Amino acid sequence: MGQDTAADASRSLRLLASDDLRHHPSTGPQPRRSTPSTPGTPLNLAMVDYLTSAVGEVVAHARTVTDELAPLPDRVEDIYAWYIDQTSDADADEQAYRDTLIETQRLEHAVRLGETDEVCKEPCPRCGCWGLMWEAGRARCSNRKCRTPGGISSSWSPSRLAAQKIRRTEIWRRNAT
Ligand SMILES: [Zn+2]
Repeated sequence: MGQDTAADASRSLRLLASDDLRHHPSTGPQPRRSTPSTPGTPLNLAMVDYLTSAVGEVVAHARTVTDELAPLPDRVEDIYAWYIDQTSDADADEQAYRDTLIETQRLEHAVRLGETDEVCKEPCPRCGCWGLMWEAGRARCSNRKCRTPGGISSSWSPSRLAAQKIRRTEIWRRNAT
């Protein structure tokens, strides 16, 4: 896969890691003041935690695949290029896991940036129709007949949609060769 997905995920990560967003999470980017009003403005700790956890997931998987990891890149947004590089000799299952993780993070970054349409570009895993709507942290199927066995309307997490997309891409790839 996936250079495009990795590039997208990387671009979002760079935006999320930018100072403006970290300092002004509720209002988005704002013009920088010429001098900081208070020295040492606290970082948005929730965003720092989010970025740390995203990078942590990537590193944890890379470590299970490769004995000797190269040093982490200086810029956080280079983590996906590093990840692909570190896992390029891994077997197909591990590469599929990696691709799913990158796609999951791409979608999660998009949600953080308010680009929830990105998540809703996948068809519903249950009924196959296009028409997912982002609602309360989940992609909800707009087909009223599409229900869980318990009768609740279908809704999906970014990671579930990412897994579906990577599996489908894998099937196309296999059929094409
Ligand atoms: Zn559905």
